[in-house]
Amino acid sequence: MKFTNGCSQIAAEAARLIPGADRIIIGAGAGLSASAGFSYSGQRFYKYFSDFAAKYGIRDMYSGGFYPFKTLNEFWAWWSRSIFVNRYDCPVGRPYQLLLQLVKDKNYFVLTTNVDHQFQRAGFSKQRLFYTQGDYGLFQCSKPCCNKTYDNEDAVRRMVAEQRDMKVPDELIPRCPVCGRPMTCNLRVDDGFVEDDGWRAAAARYSSFVEGCKGKNTVLLELGVGANTPVIIKYPFWEMSRENNFSYICINLNQAFAPEEIQKNSICIDGDITEVLQQMLNA
Ligand SMILES: [Zn+2]
Repeated sequence: MKFTNGCSQIAAEAARLIPGADRIIIGAGAGLSASAGFSYSGQRFYKYFSDFAAKYGIRDMYSGGFYPFKTLNEFWAWWSRSIFVNRYDCPVGRPYQLLLQLVKDKNYFVLTTNVDHQFQRAGFSKQRLFYTQGDYGLFQCSKPCCNKTYDNEDAVRRMVAEQRDMKVPDELIPRCPVCGRPMTCNLRVDDGFVEDDGWRAAAARYSSFVEGCKGKNTVLLELGVGANTPVIIKYPFWEMSRENNFSYICINLNQAFAPEEIQKNSICIDGDITEVLQQMLNA
């Protein structure tokens, strides 16, 4: 196994796998957006949520998403602001742009747990993208009465603009157009997650892409996948590498590793993803 602490020589070695690859499966987790500067904690959290921190004791955007707000007015003040700053009112992240440059002429597919829409905003084809955990830009019925999701941009912008003292006005609380129940975000936080037609089509495209990798020179490129949900990307990537001898590249700040069984096929790079992708492009 090649292991390094942000060494450009190893990045170059990883880069050399790309031109010869028939297929590339990219697996992207929270670390990719963190490398873009879209941190859910620290300074960036307090910039947008100092009032929520003071009143509710919330310490970061991730845990705040699970806070048991007593009213929908507060719930939507939090969520509209969180969606706004992470989905609508932030730039396209540099590592996403670099990654697209690296793979744009290749036959690739992206599997991501990120819900911030960065891949599409950076110009990745929607046909090559499976966002398993949902999308900040979609609402769904809170007790799903049907298999639909709804674009939320206008609703979110209004709730952000018209909230006062961490509450949105009653009339802006989003309601399901089918059954009238309150809406919620289309994020996989419990078993009520709606897998709409778009999600199912993306899941099918991903399965078919993976199926097509068998017997081909395939590179698995894992970026910023943490230990929270390894069953979605990390473990399946390890398994695919072990079964099919696929190359496995893992780029992760402080958490770049591979199990012994696939070490001969692995390049693990411990470093900032943006820097490493830049080094790979330079190579
Ligand atoms: Zn409904």
